[in-house]
Amino acid sequence: MSDPFTQTAEPADTDPTVVAADTRPSALRLTGVVKSYREGDSRLDVLKGANLEINEGELVALVAPSGAGKSTLLHIAGLLEAPDSGEILIAGKSAGSLTDAGRTELRRNHIGFVYQFHHLLPEFTALENIVIPQLINGLDRPQAVERAEQLLDYMRLADRKDHRPAELSGGERQRIAIARAVANAPHLLLADEPTGNLDPKTSGFVFDALAALVNASGLAALVVTHNMELAARMDRRVTLEGGQVRLL
Ligand code: ADP
Repeated sequence: MSDPFTQTAEPADTDPTVVAADTRPSALRLTGVVKSYREGDSRLDVLKGANLEINEGELVALVAPSGAGKSTLLHIAGLLEAPDSGEILIAGKSAGSLTDAGRTELRRNHIGFVYQFHHLLPEFTALENIVIPQLINGLDRPQAVERAEQLLDYMRLADRKDHRPAELSGGERQRIAIARAVANAPHLLLADEPTGNLDPKTSGFVFDALAALVNASGLAALVVTHNMELAARMDRRVTLEGGQVRLL
């Protein structure tokens, strides 16, 4: 079979392959991903050969109705769930042949997650929430603190560093969650409705911070959103239809 990611001749609307926009290094490449769930006696086919490539520096929106398989795709791309078949490359490294420990290491080094709810550790300060994942990843505390302070600065939250999540606004918490997700300098950021719980103005503000970070760091981001205004501001929009990724 020829390489689906180099086929550009077919029109996008008939081609299930979604081709990354340029020749920057690939951060995520899903090829022929199949995933089904058993439901009693029957089987629910959620992904039926999904292909998706995202290059470093690209911000891609995933917009699809509830139940279409967005979270499943994100979990598989994030190596949290194994596909039934298909290939997953993260920053050029194949996840399929790895042991559980190898997958965990690949995830820890290369992938950051942001969820609709911030999931910050409530008993720790904003700074500590960004420091801890770096310590887990083996960084020295002074280095981890320095990077956390830089990220807080970047997110314009330097004056909130000693606050605990309960003392922060929803938008501030999400910006801290984004800073935490990129603390270990991943190649890929996977975000599941990161602004879904915020009012429109705050959503825009949090999205601006996310987009600026992607631009500045060369990170690749796949962002699930129902917000068409935000989707319109991303580099590319894809959807899930019949278990396959299609360009919107
Ligand atoms: P979305 O994120 O687009 O709402 P999901 O990926 O969460 O969609 O789910 C796609 C379909 O797969 C849904 O019908 C859902 O009920 C089903 N599903 C998801 N996870 C599981 C699971 N662990 N076991 C059984 N069915 C599941």
